[in-house]
Amino acid sequence: MDVPIVIADVVIVGAGLAGCAAARELQKRGKRVIVLTKLHPLRSHSGAAQGGVNAALSDDDDVELHMFDTVKGSDYLADQDAVELMCSKAPETIRWIEHMGAAFSRREDGRIAQRPFGGQSKPRACFAKDRTGLTLLQTIYEQADRVGVQFWDEWYVADILYQDGKAYGVVAYNLRDLQPTIFNAKAVMFATGGYARAFKINSNAHANTGDGLSIVARHGLPLEDMEFVQFHPSGLAGSGILISEAARGEGGKLYNSEGERFMEKYAPEKMELAPRDVVARAIMNEIREGRGVGPDKMAVYLDLTHLGEEKIMERLPELRDLAITFLGQDMVKEPIMITVTAHYSMGGIPVDIGGHVKRSPTELTEGLYAAGECACVSVHGANRLGANSLLEALFFGRHVGNTIADDLERGLELREAEPEEAETMVKEIDTILHSNGPERTAELRQELQDTMFENCGVFRTEESLKKQREILKELRQRFKRIRIDDKSKTFNTDLQEAIELGHMLDYAGFIVEGAIARKESRGAHYREDYPQRDDENFLKHTYAYMDREGNISIEYGDVVLGKFEPQERKY
Ligand SMILES: Cc1cc2nc3c(=O)[nH]c(=O)nc-3n(C[C@H](O)[C@H](O)[C@H](O)COP(=O)(O)OP(=O)(O)OC[C@H]3O[C@@H](n4cnc5c(N)ncnc54)[C@H](O)[C@@H]3O)c2cc1C
Repeated sequence: MDVPIVIADVVIVGAGLAGCAAARELQKRGKRVIVLTKLHPLRSHSGAAQGGVNAALSDDDDVELHMFDTVKGSDYLADQDAVELMCSKAPETIRWIEHMGAAFSRREDGRIAQRPFGGQSKPRACFAKDRTGLTLLQTIYEQADRVGVQFWDEWYVADILYQDGKAYGVVAYNLRDLQPTIFNAKAVMFATGGYARAFKINSNAHANTGDGLSIVARHGLPLEDMEFVQFHPSGLAGSGILISEAARGEGGKLYNSEGERFMEKYAPEKMELAPRDVVARAIMNEIREGRGVGPDKMAVYLDLTHLGEEKIMERLPELRDLAITFLGQDMVKEPIMITVTAHYSMGGIPVDIGGHVKRSPTELTEGLYAAGECACVSVHGANRLGANSLLEALFFGRHVGNTIADDLERGLELREAEPEEAETMVKEIDTILHSNGPERTAELRQELQDTMFENCGVFRTEESLKKQREILKELRQRFKRIRIDDKSKTFNTDLQEAIELGHMLDYAGFIVEGAIARKESRGAHYREDYPQRDDENFLKHTYAYMDREGNISIEYGDVVLGKFEPQERKY
C-alpha cells in the first residue's frame, strides 16, 4: 500500500485552544509545525464554551486566592505546583490573548468585566458575552494562521508511532478519500479535548470521543484520574445542552417542584454558586426524592426572570436562544427546566508541569506531550471550577508549545518512520469496512451512553460499577461483530463513528475501573457506599494501564501538595 510520509518538527493533534496556542508559539520560534484536526479548527469544542475564563485581575482579587479556590474546589487532589503556575500566569494570559484581538466584555470604566462563578471567592471570570470560547478560539486560530502554522483539516488521527518510550509521529487518514499517511516528527503533542460523549446526557460536541486518550492507552501508557467526570448542574432538560454557569453567576436561582429554593439545604452560604459537584448532587437528590419537575420529573427549575430582559440580552443572549430553540422556554418570561449533564473530564493523559507525557507516576516519555482537556496536569484534581478550563487550555497550550521548542533546541532527534508502521490503522479500517456482523454502531453507542449514565454517573456504588464493568466487557465483544453500510472512501462518517466508538469503549473502561478502585467520595466521584473522603488511603492520583486484551490494572502516584493543607470542604 502507498503510505506517504510527511516530515515536520512537531505534529499537533487537535486545533482547539490548546492545539492552536501551542502551534502559534512553536511556529513563532521557527519550528515546522503541522496541526492535524478531524474538524475545521473553528468547530473545535472550545468554540462552544460560553461562560468565561478566570484570572485574578481586579484590584480586590489576588493570585493566592485563585489558587486556594482551585485547590479547595479540587477537593485537595490538584497538584499545587501546577495550580500555582497556572493561576499566577492567568492575568498575563488574558492580556496576551486580548492584545492579539480577543474582545472581552467591558465594565463602564473600560476595564475587562468579570462575573462570579461557582466556588470562586471573587468575580473572576472574564467573558465575551456568553460566547467566550468562540471569541478566544477565533483569535488564537487567526494568529496561528497568520504566523504560518499549517492546518491539515479533516484528517483523522488513529494511531501514534511510539516505541521504547519515544514518540516520533502519528498515523492518520484523510477524511476526504481515506488516504493513510504517516506524519513523522521529532515531537508529538495531543490536544484532542474532552470525552463526555460516553454518557447519555452530556453537553459535549459530537466529536468529543476521547480518541487521543485511547490511542495513547493502547500503547500501554497510563491514563490518570479517569474516574473524575464532572456533571454540570445545568443542561437543558432532555438534551443536556449546556446552560452556562454564567446563568447562576448572573443571579439564577434553583427551585424544585414544591417551589423551594433547595440549595439552602445543601450549601447555605454559597447557594447556587457552590462548586459543580455539590450543586449537581443536590439537583439529583431532589429528583430522586420526587421533587423534580417536567413530564418525567427529571429536571428542576432555573429562574432568571428577575434579571429582566435587558440584562439577559446583554449578558446571556445565546443561552436564551438555546432554551427557546430546544425547550420552547423563554428565560425572560419563565423559569427554564434544567438537569445535570456530563460535561468535563478532570482526568486524562498524565503530564508533568511542562507537558511531557508520563509513562508511570515517576517516569517520562520522550517526544510526547499533551495539553488542554485531554491532559491531566492535575490543576483540577477531583473537581474543576468553572472558567478554569479555558484558562488551562490557553495557558498550558502556550506553555507546552514553549517546552517543546526548548526540547527541540536541546537536540530532540527525529527517529525515522517506515511506511509499514501505518499497518495497525490500515488493518483497523479494513476490518471495520469488511466486517459483516450483526451489530450496529448507533445501538452499541446508545447502550454505552445509557448504562454509563445509569451505573457510573453522579452517584455510584460497588454494585452499579461492577455491573457496568460486565456491560462494557459484553459491548467490547459485540463491537468486534460490527457492520457498517457505507463502504466508500469518500467522507465515510459511518467508518469514523465506528472507530470513535472503539475509542469510547476503551476509555469508558478506565473510568469504571478507576471508580471501582477508589473507595471514597471526593469531588465529582461520589460513592454511596463510601460517602466520606478518605485522605489516609486515597489522597493520591490513579494511574491505570490497559493490556492488549483490554484488562485494566491500577497503581497510584503522589499528589503534589503545597501551602494549602487538606481541610473539610464547606460551602
Ligand atoms: C458547552 C461547553 C461549554 C463550556 N464552557 C466553558 C467555560 O465557559 N469556561 C471554561 O473554562 N471551560 C468551558 N468549557 C470547557 C472548555 O471549553 C474545554 O475544556 C476546552 O475548550 C478544551 O479545549 P481543548 O483545546 O483541550 O480541546 P477542543 O477545543 O475540544 O479541541 C479538540 C481538538 O481535537 C481534535 N481531535 C480530536 N480527536 C481527533 C482525532 N482523532 N484526529 C484529529 N483531530 C482530533 C478536534 O478536531 C479538535 O480540533 C465548556 C465546555 C463545553 C462542552
